[in-house]
Amino acid sequence: MLRKVQPSMWRCQLMWGLLLLTAVPSRAKLGTFWHVSDFHLDVNYTAGDGDVTKMCWKKAGGYDGAQPGTFGDYECDAPLALVESAVDAMERIHPNPDFIMWTGDDTAHVDDNSLTNVLKNRFPNADVLPVLGNHDYYPKNQLPPTENDLQTKVADLWKTWLADEYADFKSGGRYYRDIPNTSVSVLALNTLIWYKSNQVTAPETDNDPAEQFKWIDDTLTELAKRKRKVYIMGHIPPGTFERYQQKKEGFHWFQERFNKKYIEMVQKHANVIKAQFFAHHHTDSFRLFFNATDATRPVSYMLLVPGVTPWRSSLSEETGANNPGIRLVTYDTDTGLVKEISTYYLDLTQANNNNRADWKLEYNFTKNYQLNAINPTTLYNLTKTMKTNRTLFDRYYSANTVNLEKPEVCQEKCQRLHWCAITEVDYERFSQCNAASSTSAWAAGTLVAAVVLILRPW
Ligand SMILES: [Zn+2]
Ligand SMILES: [Zn+2]
Repeated sequence: MLRKVQPSMWRCQLMWGLLLLTAVPSRAKLGTFWHVSDFHLDVNYTAGDGDVTKMCWKKAGGYDGAQPGTFGDYECDAPLALVESAVDAMERIHPNPDFIMWTGDDTAHVDDNSLTNVLKNRFPNADVLPVLGNHDYYPKNQLPPTENDLQTKVADLWKTWLADEYADFKSGGRYYRDIPNTSVSVLALNTLIWYKSNQVTAPETDNDPAEQFKWIDDTLTELAKRKRKVYIMGHIPPGTFERYQQKKEGFHWFQERFNKKYIEMVQKHANVIKAQFFAHHHTDSFRLFFNATDATRPVSYMLLVPGVTPWRSSLSEETGANNPGIRLVTYDTDTGLVKEISTYYLDLTQANNNNRADWKLEYNFTKNYQLNAINPTTLYNLTKTMKTNRTLFDRYYSANTVNLEKPEVCQEKCQRLHWCAITEVDYERFSQCNAASSTSAWAAGTLVAAVVLILRPW
């Protein structure tokens, strides 16, 4: 039945319509990408009753009597069943990402191309952006800053993905790519030439191996002119490992001069860099970068993605193991701002008990940390709040090992180290932060807090 609308009512409806149109902001176009890392595929892994010396390379050294499960073991690197279940989960949860960031430590030997094939088969049309990790070649950690057999071999293995970036990767292990139909460009770095265990680049005479800092500076200047929004990705992160408590100076990876140069680079180009994505720790954390002259102003942040391997770190007892994790990032394709970070995980014990790999959402970043946006300022505020709000810190700590360790194990000293690692990427400042706050006054936030105030007010 047609209803005759009164003119006054019609006008009223039009007014409401106009009001609604002006009230609703233009909807941002959202894109997604996977960030996955540190699969550490162990092709020799043997589940169940078998020759214990062959179960996995670590068990072979100190077998503890437990039988490794189908999907892995906290003492071992990842069996193929775990790797395949992770890629299955990516395909099931979000089969059409704009791209996949794959930040290294894939296999023990680069001759083994199984992982590349697993990804190629499941995501035949996806843009995969790979970089090398320090465990992707032998002898591990050693990589010259010039064109070499390894990079040539890997460039050929990844040729279909690298396309235009093939030559850049082959000569320097780095490249950048404009993501189609977005304002985002991804800068993929070769962090191995800055690694402290890389003896080839250790001599202090070379302050810019492969001229990578110069290349970053030139590229970011050019991308800023083109009004691109940049994500930086790499395997080994700058700064200090948040789970190492043995020494007050902590444990870091970059040679010190490269760590300083990296921080300066971020400070200089903070406007164009929208976020940084790194790996290597196998744990879930983040880092903050501050303005060069105003230590209170956060200007950039870095997200550390958990690994797929559950392997218990041999670095020190407290560094521990983790549940396998993968991460889906939602971003605004125009502004490049990260809108959500969704981490999915596998409860390894449960998976082995049930003989089924049931990957689930672990947490959404904004909901978990009660944030209305993800940017350097909100992350700094969150970090400051976590110091006194134990509920929020517990959530961070549970996420740190991907729901494996209970947060109660992390008390004062441990909590302080996380604070210092997150806020102080510079090694010297990390040491000062740790020393200045390593008394009981830290928790009370009294006298010693005044000293910390000079370093980084909070
Ligand atoms: Zn790794
Ligand atoms: Zn690594």
